[in-house]
Amino acid sequence: MNADTHCNVTCPSCFESFSVPGPAPSEVPTDWDYDCEICCRPMVIHFYLDDERVIAEADSDQ
Ligand SMILES: [Zn+2]
Repeated sequence: MNADTHCNVTCPSCFESFSVPGPAPSEVPTDWDYDCEICCRPMVIHFYLDDERVIAEADSDQ
């Protein structure tokens, strides 16, 4: 199991990027409700697997 599942996410509201502790690969694909660490706006983060890496894509919650 890969212990490092941090993912880079770009906020759809303020376009800052930050890193989130992502889900375990066995839990992917999954969607998380998340608040931006920079502007605190809500977003939805979609996690999916690309090869064995967990990829995160953020979407506006609106
Ligand atoms: Zn933001």
